[in-house]
Amino acid sequence: MPTTLPQHTQHSRRYEQNKFVYPVLSRRSRGISIGINLNPDKVCNFDCIYCQVNRRSEAETRFVETDRLLHELGDMLDFVTSGDIWHDPQFESVPEHLRRLNDFAFSGDGEPTTFRNFDAIIDQVAQLKRDRGLQNVKLVLITNASMFHRPVVQRGLALLDQNNGEIWAKLEAGTEAYYQLVERTKIPFQQVLDNITAAAQVRPLVIQSLFMRVNGDPPSDAEIDAFIERLNDIQASGGRLKLVQIYTVARQPAESFVAPLTHAEVDALAARVESAARVPVERYYGPDV
Ligand code: SF4
Repeated sequence: MPTTLPQHTQHSRRYEQNKFVYPVLSRRSRGISIGINLNPDKVCNFDCIYCQVNRRSEAETRFVETDRLLHELGDMLDFVTSGDIWHDPQFESVPEHLRRLNDFAFSGDGEPTTFRNFDAIIDQVAQLKRDRGLQNVKLVLITNASMFHRPVVQRGLALLDQNNGEIWAKLEAGTEAYYQLVERTKIPFQQVLDNITAAAQVRPLVIQSLFMRVNGDPPSDAEIDAFIERLNDIQASGGRLKLVQIYTVARQPAESFVAPLTHAEVDALAARVESAARVPVERYYGPDV
């Protein structure tokens, strides 16, 4: 059972004076993930009810400065690979088995695929990874899959494929209505489904699915059935799914009407998805409730 350590709840996007790069002890990476924030302006094309990004305060940085980002990434790699990170108070209690660098994660304060030079930044980060001889370190794209149809994003996804990349695509509804309740966006659910299907036809995807209580209610049985149907639709269309990550709220979200599922609810949901959709499932719990 994956456990939640204190560090798992401290996903600060800022590290020292960095603007774009930050280290995270990630449950889903089972080690250190070096986060790359391509949306320092905090703009996102979704407005998820469980989002952790504090959009009530003004963004200090509006644009990605590529040279500075790559410089910060190089310094962060030195910090992690030298082992200096384990002397930092924030990371000194990390257990031995998690003291490993798993990935660079394109994530941050918005949807990374909306970054206009998405393909170029993937290319530059992949080059830096190669230069450091870190072929085994993954490039993870944490995405809502809303922009996969754009050519610049398709080029970026192809570069990920060539550089030990993995796509973690958000899918956490089975119906348009629940999708709108959770993601609050103008982008139609069908566009996301079509994008995930097309991308999964090219390479196996990881699906990331956060379920929660909304105004006290967990997702209904009918919604979970519909979610499983969507997973089965993707696979019936030739899409390959490597894994579904079922998780719940681990930290205080922006909206007060959102709360975590219990461990038993996460277990039941994961078991249902695993047997009905015939895909491997990993589960990640919230705080003890
Ligand atoms: S897609 Fe991610 S960054 Fe955007 S609102 Fe949802 S959780 Fe927040």
